Formats: sequence, structure tokens, C-alpha cells
Amino acid sequence: MKMKKFTACLTAGVLSAALLAGCSGTPAGKAESAPDKNPAQSHSETATEDARFDDTFLAMDTVMTVSAFGPKGQAGVKAAREKIEALDALLSTGSETSEVSRLNAEGGGSLSEDTLALAKASLALYEDTDGAFDISIYPVMKLWGFDRLDDLSADNPDIPTKEELAETLALVDAGELSLDTENSVLTYGLPGMAVDFGGITKGYASDTVIHMLRDMGIRHALLNLGGNVQALGAKPDGSKWRVGIRYPDLQSSDIVGIVSVENKAVITSGDYERTIPGTDYHHIIDPATGWPVENGLRSVTIVSEDGTLADGLSTSLFVMGMEKAEEYWRSHREAFDVIFLTEDLKLHVTEGIAEDFKPADGYKMDIIS
Ligand code: ADP
Ligand code: MG
Repeated sequence: MKMKKFTACLTAGVLSAALLAGCSGTPAGKAESAPDKNPAQSHSETATEDARFDDTFLAMDTVMTVSAFGPKGQAGVKAAREKIEALDALLSTGSETSEVSRLNAEGGGSLSEDTLALAKASLALYEDTDGAFDISIYPVMKLWGFDRLDDLSADNPDIPTKEELAETLALVDAGELSLDTENSVLTYGLPGMAVDFGGITKGYASDTVIHMLRDMGIRHALLNLGGNVQALGAKPDGSKWRVGIRYPDLQSSDIVGIVSVENKAVITSGDYERTIPGTDYHHIIDPATGWPVENGLRSVTIVSEDGTLADGLSTSLFVMGMEKAEEYWRSHREAFDVIFLTEDLKLHVTEGIAEDFKPADGYKMDIIS
């Protein structure tokens, strides 16, 4: 396990964590790691409060970096990875043996503790977002081919027909899912329904791990789960973590701004993350139409103490579009803040986070109040 001096900022919405030295406005591609602070130290229990331990690994189809500080840092990083891998095994739609695959094959069934928590949060969001967040979207994801992107060819993208979409959309309605919280049982109301927690899983994972690390006595930690960032405390030197918001194109390493946070999740949904080869069709689907959302937004970043909520809302507000999303924020402003990036590459930032957000050179921002 390596220990490094931490100097850093991270880029939300990227596949790999970028550790930037003095990173104000610095593109993630220019990232550089700081030299090891104390490489000889091997007994983590004697490590100082600012000693950093980290691990980078693949899980949930993305690159994850977990960093934790202090005497419990090494144990924290190990426990974090184990928890994330366990959640991946439980929730992966791509694995036949996952709990989610079992539920989808059997039209529901009993839920483990984590799946119950995710189902509760997802169904509450479905109600609260007027159906913008709908975990029963999975049959439509499959129809588009998002479950087999590697097999699709750019020459023959195989876009669903109107008839196929209409038929498949008939299975999409989280209102037909009934959750018995007492007995931890989920029942699907329509034959052929299937769920996917992909719009909320990484935020739930980061939130769960942050609570676990705090309970272990760790005071400073940072998780970057494929661009979904969540921080425990501030940096060991007391300053805030700096998280970059990426330019909405995976080919670019530019950032459009930096948000400074402590004890918060910073989670982005964008139209550039996963697309059908040869097209711009991306993986956030409007449950009302079955089509990838196209409403003038390029990305939505949610900043909140609650990682699960931040992830669910990044997807939901992207689906709602700017106007409805602003309204939603106004009626829930205590719970979260938002950074919208529109197709003209302007930033629109809610007032709760405005002081902690800095647009990169050349980008304009307005404040939503
Ligand atoms: P990422 O997974 O890249 O961080 P999101 O959090 O926005 O991005 O999640 C996108 C995933 O959410 C999709 O891959 C799909 O599994 C799921 N999804 C897509 N549309 C919806 C929707 N309207 N409601 C709930 N989940 C959705
Ligand atoms: Mg999300």
C-alpha cells in the first residue's frame, strides 16, 4: 500500500481519478501525483493523521480510487474495496448470479439489506421526481443495447423501432413495483418487468463506504467511483477538497470548473458517458418516451451530503431538463445544490454552492436563486 502526500483535486465525471498539483483550472490530463511522503512507513497503525493510503481498482464497469488518511487509513481502504466489490456482486445486471439478476428472472423476491435500502431510495425518488427516476427502465436499456455495448458495431447501430419502443415501454412503470419493507420483499406487478439500480448504485456505494470509514474512526477520506466523488471531512490540512467538473467529451481532459467541498458527494450525470457506437444516443433515458434525453443539458452535477440522493438526482434532474430541475431544486434546496452545464457550454449554479464554485478560464456562470 502506498502512502502519498495529498495535494489534490479530482475530476468528476471521468473514468480515472486525476490528482492535480496546485490544480486551479488545470486540465485533468496534466495531472501529476505528489511524491511519496513517507514511503518507508509500513505500520499503518502508527501513521500520522495526514498519512494517506489509497487503492485503485476496477468495479462496477469503471475505475475507482479510494483514499483514506491516518492510523486507520490502510484498514479503511481495504474495507472500502471489499464493500464496493460486494455491492458490485449484488447489483450487477451483467452477472447472472447477482441478486438483481435473480429478482429480474423471478419477477421479484427477497432483498438483502443493501438492496432493500436501494429499492426504498429509488421508489421514493420515483414518487418525488414525477417518474423521472425509474429503476424499471432496464428493458428499454436492453432494447437500445446498453447491456452489450461491446458487441455493437458503429456501422450498424440497430436503433429500436417505434413499435419495439412502445411495446417495451409498457413494462416501464415503477408504480407497478411493490415493496414490502417489513419482510424485505419486492414484487413486480407486470410480467417481463426488470430493474436496474445503475442510476443510483455508485452514489449508494460511496455513501455507505463513507459512513463505514467514519465509524472506523477515520476523519479524512476521498472516494472517486468512476467520476462520482464523495469526501469524508476536509483534507487533513483543513482545506476543502477540490473537485473538477469535466468538459462533456470523453476525448477531452479539460475541466469547465472546480467545486470545493467537505463532507459532501459531487456526482455528475452527462450525455457523454456511455453511447451507442456510431451515434450520440447515450445512457440516460426519459421513461416517458424511451429515448435518450435530449433537452439542452450536457451534464448535471449534484452536490450533497447524501451520496445516494446525489446520484439519484443527477440522473433525475438530467431527465427533467433545466426548467423543471430548477423548480425541483427550489423546493428541496436544503438537501442539495446543482451545477448545470448547458449545450452552449454555460454553467448555471444554485446559490448554495456558488461561493465554492469557480468556472475555468473562458467559462461563464450564472447563479440560480
Ligand atoms: P453513471 O452511471 O454514468 O454515473 P447515471 O448516474 O446518470 O450515470 O446513471 C445512468 C444509469 O442509470 C444508466 O446506465 C441506467 O442504468 C440508469 N438509468 C437510465 N435512465 C434512467 C432513469 N430515467 N431512471 C433511473 N435510472 C436510469
Ligand atoms: Mg445517477
